[in-house]
Amino acid sequence: MGENRNRPAASYETVIGLETHIALKTETKAFCSCAVTFGAEPNTHCCPVCLGMPGALPVLNEKAVEYAAKAGLLLHCRVSLVSHMDRKQYFYPDLPKGYQISQDDEPLCTDGWLEIPAAGGGKKRVRIERIHLEEDAGKLIHTAEGTLIDCNRCGVPLIEIVTKPDFRSAEEVVAYLQELREIIRFAGLSDCRMNEGSLRCDVNLSLRPRGSEELGERAELKNLNSFQFAAKAIAFEEERQAAVLASGGTLFPETRGFCEETGETYAMRRKESQDDYRFLPEPDLPPVVLTQDQIDRWRSELPEPPAERRARYESEYGLSHETAALLTVSRAAADRFEEAAARTPWARQLANLLAADPERLEAGIPVAAQSLAELAALLGEGSVGAAAARRILDEMWAHGGDPREIAARLGLLKLSDRASLLPFAEQAVAANGRAAADFRAGKTAALQALLGDVMRRSHGRADPAAARALLLELLGG
Ligand code: ADP
Ligand code: MG
Ligand code: ZN
Repeated sequence: MGENRNRPAASYETVIGLETHIALKTETKAFCSCAVTFGAEPNTHCCPVCLGMPGALPVLNEKAVEYAAKAGLLLHCRVSLVSHMDRKQYFYPDLPKGYQISQDDEPLCTDGWLEIPAAGGGKKRVRIERIHLEEDAGKLIHTAEGTLIDCNRCGVPLIEIVTKPDFRSAEEVVAYLQELREIIRFAGLSDCRMNEGSLRCDVNLSLRPRGSEELGERAELKNLNSFQFAAKAIAFEEERQAAVLASGGTLFPETRGFCEETGETYAMRRKESQDDYRFLPEPDLPPVVLTQDQIDRWRSELPEPPAERRARYESEYGLSHETAALLTVSRAAADRFEEAAARTPWARQLANLLAADPERLEAGIPVAAQSLAELAALLGEGSVGAAAARRILDEMWAHGGDPREIAARLGLLKLSDRASLLPFAEQAVAANGRAAADFRAGKTAALQALLGDVMRRSHGRADPAAARALLLELLGG
């Protein structure tokens, strides 16, 4: 298809709406007290409730409601004071209950939006239709002997975030997913790991003639589990639908899969209609009733979003955009940095020091704010150099401790007193007779060689300004 000079897709506009499932990082499942885990021994975290045994009764996890509502608040949704859970009937082999507890006609959150960078600069607002709370299914494990089922994931709380059909390209879809992942993760509501399945998205895609306002027939592309696969599936589907339309064929609503090896989408089934699910209000659970106070409190607990923090770090502390981005990798890291920054005039030095080893920042910074501030002062005041400061930070990261004491113990403090520097300076002058003579003859640049030798002999610990002054004195300059 790529060979066609006049690609049929060019005469159509792509229209995409997303359904994104995010697994909430609550301690326990949505309707029972089994732990939410990833990678545990199969079927070690299940009970009669999440296995759907007859007579077992679900109890709604309040944390799951709180997290779902907080996601809604982050995405500028209205959180309903009253919503309810529904039963969605279907046969899926990884859901032993035979139905999924979800929300149909009264979801927890409605009418939100999320801004993404627009193609021509500026922002584009993607409207969010709804966010509802539901439960995850288990996992099928296909082996040579047959298919096994792991029910650890059954009943893990999910939110499904449904957008309006507002995307026009794969780039916009990826930008949205990145933005969404960042703010949800930052608020600690989910890990949003696509490779672990805690963020999964379905892409609904249709085409329409450019200029038309009507929506075309869509295909729903299921379970794309990386940004790259989402982009590839979209590219393939645009071409496929365009070819059907261009040849006078008709499209019908269908559910399609994506093959990671070929990069192609393939037909799975005609799309089920709403009626097929036989939704009914979940008889075993009361309605979800919230108070405005509760919602206000949840709102007040939300962190300042990472993008706003980055902008603030850039202007308040003079950080580069890159450094600000590294520090806002998680709320834990950003919060600790800010605590420390409030206690030192050397916040920028501290930021650069922390950002020098970005990988470990995500889990937070296990060093007390006061110690970080003291380390920043050592560096800012010139008592230790940058490399030494990194070693001290590593030491504090692993074992804690007082930065000044660590610097002294590891011999990392800079030498600026005359008594410590004198032997190095004298040795340097004696060993570099030529440079010393050049300097005395008026070649001031020769001092650099002598200074370099002092730094080498002191293993970088000599304070350059003090060493320089001492050399000048010895050379009678
Ligand atoms: P369902 O739950 O049956 O998949 P919804 O009506 O809830 O259907 O829509 C799911 C997603 O599909 C939404 O993001 C919506 O914006 C999107 N969508 C619906 N119709 C179209 C269409 N014709 N083209 C592209 N996206 C669509
Ligand atoms: Mg759908
Ligand atoms: Zn359970």
